Amino acid sequence: MKKITILVPAYNEEEVLDQLYDRLKGVMNGLPDYQFEILFVNDGSKDQTLSIIKNLRAKDTRISYVNLSRNFGKEIAMIAGLDYATGDAVIIIDADLQDPPELIPEMIKYWEMGFDDVFAKRRSRAGETWLKKWTSATYYKILQKMTRIPIQENTGDFRLLDRRCVEALKQLRETQRYTKGMFSWIGYNKKEILFDRDPRAAGETKWNYAKLVDLAIEGITSFTTAPLRWSAFFGIIISAFAFAFMIWIIIKTLLFGEPVAGYPSLMTVILFLGGIQLLSLGIIGEYLGRIFNESKHRPLYFVDEYNEEKELNQKPRDQEKTYIHQ
Ligand code: UDP
Ligand code: MG
Repeated sequence: MKKITILVPAYNEEEVLDQLYDRLKGVMNGLPDYQFEILFVNDGSKDQTLSIIKNLRAKDTRISYVNLSRNFGKEIAMIAGLDYATGDAVIIIDADLQDPPELIPEMIKYWEMGFDDVFAKRRSRAGETWLKKWTSATYYKILQKMTRIPIQENTGDFRLLDRRCVEALKQLRETQRYTKGMFSWIGYNKKEILFDRDPRAAGETKWNYAKLVDLAIEGITSFTTAPLRWSAFFGIIISAFAFAFMIWIIIKTLLFGEPVAGYPSLMTVILFLGGIQLLSLGIIGEYLGRIFNESKHRPLYFVDEYNEEKELNQKPRDQEKTYIHQ
């Protein structure tokens, strides 16, 4: 019997967990040919999330959990979940029921047909503002142009991953993670299915614009060095213009003299170049910061508890292999 892990990162989700469990239970009962594991990753929740998960586990042995030592963010919670998942396939789903569990049978159907990564693409985004939709659409266009890997638009982390995708993702141990890009980067057979994204069932979103901007920059800087090249390119163009301008000024001065004026033009040029220089420095700094963070080689997370057992070892199980070539 094939085993499927349903991976749920959860941060302060006390209000929705029971509902989520009921919906998942319905789906699992409709698929008697598979063995299921629901793996909750409690990402340092400050509410009753963990105790609710423990209660559910007492009722249903298919439930497992990993309790992280603090809040590490969803990206890290997901890799922790992949490290601990035991299934032949892993389905990543949000706790807030924005990703309908009823799509799971269809994902499994395509998995059985041989696809390795069945991802759910949003047909609509109910409960989101037009501004969020517009910024997201524009961002994907830019990201697509800059990186050469196709990163799926309107696709979240709701997807089924075959074991080999999971093993591939587990080898990408960078600390600043843009998981959405990694799904694309690893390749394998992908299949898109469409769905309507529901608004959150209860509780509040953990995202705000500042975090989204962070993630957006992360997306670009972790998959392409194009901005570095652009700043060089900008530099070359501007130097070329400056050179032509210099020649023009020399000739003009030789022919007609120079009745010292030019304060406005001088000011504009200085400010413009100053701006460009700061921008380029900022871009370099962004990459330098990444190098700094990665060069510390810290473990991605610490686990407090895995299914009632206190974790002593900071290395996740089965990770020795990946740690060797770090
Ligand atoms: N999440 C998490 N750690 C965090 C923030 C969020 O594990 O630091 C989980 C959260 O519990 C949910 C999923 O990530 O299962 C998506 O979060 P949310 O619904 O807040 O994001 P949105 O759907 O608004 O993008
Ligand atoms: Mg949500």
